Amino acid sequence: MKKTIKDYDFESKTVIIRCDLNVPINNGIIQDKTRINASLKSINYLVSHNAKIIILSHLGKVKSEEDKKENTLFPVYLELKKLLNTNVYFSEETRGEELEKLVSNLKSSEVLLIENTRYEDVPNKLESSCDDELSKYWASLGDIFINDAYGTSHRIHASNVGISKYLPSAIGFLVEEEITKLDNIIEEDTHPFTVVMGGKKIADKIPLIENLITKCDKLLVGGGMCFTFLASLNIPVREDIVDSSSVEFCQKILAKYPEKIILPVDFVTKEKEIKDLSSLTKEDIGYDIGPKTIKIFQDILSSSSRVIINGPMGVFEEEYFKTGTESIYHALKENHIKTLIGGGDSASSVNKLGYASSFYHISTGGGATLEYLSGTKLPGIDSINDK
Ligand code: ADP
Ligand code: MG
Repeated sequence: MKKTIKDYDFESKTVIIRCDLNVPINNGIIQDKTRINASLKSINYLVSHNAKIIILSHLGKVKSEEDKKENTLFPVYLELKKLLNTNVYFSEETRGEELEKLVSNLKSSEVLLIENTRYEDVPNKLESSCDDELSKYWASLGDIFINDAYGTSHRIHASNVGISKYLPSAIGFLVEEEITKLDNIIEEDTHPFTVVMGGKKIADKIPLIENLITKCDKLLVGGGMCFTFLASLNIPVREDIVDSSSVEFCQKILAKYPEKIILPVDFVTKEKEIKDLSSLTKEDIGYDIGPKTIKIFQDILSSSSRVIINGPMGVFEEEYFKTGTESIYHALKENHIKTLIGGGDSASSVNKLGYASSFYHISTGGGATLEYLSGTKLPGIDSINDK
């Protein structure tokens, strides 16, 4: 068990908290504030416990001097000023005298946001390579380190893993909620346990399939990735939607778990025709699972005890091809099935289709969640002190 934010006394201590404030910004206007709002619980906890608070976060990728202007955290600073009921300051420097002056002037319950940690990536990638000098320097600004940047926890960077080597540390509320819920759904000994995989990038998801197939009772495969499974069974499908590097994997896993893996039996094609598997030709592109498959998937899901979803069933971004994805969510909601959603596009499909409050957990992690569900330890969490 990792130490959590509740395990320390913050009275008059300077606390460095690594948040994930990596929000989309267009012309200085924040397009989606979800990540800022999700970080407030830990920040407000530190404010109410009289810590002097230093916030670190990255924003986008910074590879050149020009990238800096587009990736400044200044708009996030203005937003935090509005949201937090305390004085909030901004340091344009990621290190140096001015930053140190701001830190030493900080009073209890006040907040200092430091500019994008990835400014340190120009020119020498110091942040992204977890440079030791930089890690030590940032650690020297505070007394305690809190990591609440769940979405970055699969990365080994100076501002998350590096600092934690030099300070007493703990996870924040956001990280705690994510890993508690992920552990809970994976380890809970209730059955049937069903995993639904979709989306398009099968190669990225092989480790995930390999780990979850050993734990689940059924694996339902839809989305674009099912065509690689079908191709591995010598069913004629269009070549350009098959990931040839993953065919062998599909063959092996289908042979090993023939009862567990359920593939679609019909599709909605790009031309909006419903076609059975047997009438699918090498010209067809399936953009969604068809009505028979929906029924089969719904029946399995409705009698499941717990479900993990990774990847949409079709091209849900287009009105005509969202039915498969939506029907599955509908069945899970109606039957109150304990459901965890993992994956960036899966989470946006849930939000877009109006199921944001219907499920046990919608992970904010993207890549981090995929790695965690694959059974890999997350370095940003692993490096935090144990209880
Ligand atoms: P996640 O981010 O949840 O892990 P992925 O990134 O693997 O999911 O895949 C999401 C994308 O897959 C979506 O943009 C969706 O349009 C696309 N997709 C789903 N089904 C198909 C399909 N049958 N053909 C092509 N693309 C698909
Ligand atoms: Mg994705």
